[in-house]
Amino acid sequence: MSHTSYAGDPKIMFAKFSSTCPKCNKKINKSDRIVYFPNGKKAFCYSCGEQDYLDFVSSAIDEDNFNRGYC
Ligand SMILES: [Zn+2]
Repeated sequence: MSHTSYAGDPKIMFAKFSSTCPKCNKKINKSDRIVYFPNGKKAFCYSCGEQDYLDFVSSAIDEDNFNRGYC
């Protein structure tokens, strides 16, 4: 991975404690795979967070390409 990383990058990680997905209200169990957004301090279940995560990753890559001078 060579794309620029920012402090607020969402991360795929495993839940350290159980909680509830703020989007679908599904229970997130400890050690479930989640997508964590440090900016909002929100942990979404993987199925809710995955698309936002992928959108983020692809926009970060687009931005890197733009910074290098091609789009
Ligand atoms: Zn969810």
